[in-house]
Amino acid sequence: MIPMVNLKAQYAEIKDEVERGLAETIENCSFILGPNVQAFEKEAASYLGVKHAIGVASGTDALHLALIAEGIGAGDEVITTAFTFIATAEAIKYVGAVPVFVDIDPKTFNISPEAIAKAITPKTKAVMPVHLFGQPADMTKIAALCEQHNLKLIEDCCQSFGATINGKQTGAIGHASGFSFFPSKNLGAFGDGGLVTTNSDETAAKIKQLRNHGSDVRYYHDVIGYNSRLDEMQAVILRAKLKRIDQYNEKRRHVGRLYSQLMADLPLTTPFEDGLGEHVYHQYTLLCDRRDEVLKALQDKQIGCAIYYPVPLHQQNVFKQECAGVSLPVTEAVAAKCFSLPICPYLEDDTIREIVAVIRGVLTA
Ligand SMILES: *Cc1c(COP(=O)(O)O)cnc(C)c1O
Repeated sequence: MIPMVNLKAQYAEIKDEVERGLAETIENCSFILGPNVQAFEKEAASYLGVKHAIGVASGTDALHLALIAEGIGAGDEVITTAFTFIATAEAIKYVGAVPVFVDIDPKTFNISPEAIAKAITPKTKAVMPVHLFGQPADMTKIAALCEQHNLKLIEDCCQSFGATINGKQTGAIGHASGFSFFPSKNLGAFGDGGLVTTNSDETAAKIKQLRNHGSDVRYYHDVIGYNSRLDEMQAVILRAKLKRIDQYNEKRRHVGRLYSQLMADLPLTTPFEDGLGEHVYHQYTLLCDRRDEVLKALQDKQIGCAIYYPVPLHQQNVFKQECAGVSLPVTEAVAAKCFSLPICPYLEDDTIREIVAVIRGVLTA
């Protein structure tokens, strides 16, 4: 069996450090916003090159709180992509805003700056690009549009920890950004976790308040907030993995590029690196007209595979009605042909060859 992500191999490497840190936390009993959360926030801010990094309970919460802190609310339009995980749009709905789904670039699958430009109306208040599968969206063009139209730029970095563009980390460009530490993400905890990054002192102060019941001083509450703190135990694990994140991402790039090299002659479309930024291969996603046959062959051999994402958000039951009349031809075409293969820092070259051999068997039969 070859899993999509091999978390066991990763744990073996950090076991001692993690067990020591967890034992210490249990001894100290400083479970909520303790020293490891504080240290992790400093270390993450320094790694990402941002003024503030605030730990929260999940990536979904990170995006939700970022939108509130940036003043996005009822009736505001937020331009985003439909080719993403549902949480991107959920966060927009939580604040009462309207997700305006626009089409993607056919090669990178990231939101198209040209499509954003066309969708801007007097009600547009923010743009939320997703750095999908680990490849940064075209932030030069997107940031310029936001500046020109006075829109908030909120980055969904849930798949892009460590990816860079124009010498900056994703999450260091927008007004506020959200990261996820869901276990299978490039930087993953042993449960849920998330992070908001910003260079604004004001936004950071709001996020700190919002994640902790609207309170700056214990038992004094200024706004209705949430219980959305990054867990202290998770921070221990994240600190151990953050030290190694460049190594992890380097290995992912190696895996991605070896797959592409080995499949270069096959009738499928391997991931396109646009060269604008550095891809961190959260997923290795390709297009194939014979997807179903390929997936069946992989499943028969117990090789992990998945479709990210089979149904674009505008076609999901939850959005069908509100998005009646929305047509996103590129998104729809990609969703009909895309599939993803196992990728993680611990995938061996021989295993990659084994996976490719199965795909080759189908496509050259
Ligand atoms: C994982 C993910 C989220 C949500 O993160 P959680 O930590 O699971 O809440 C949001 N957006 C994208 C693009 C994601 O991949």
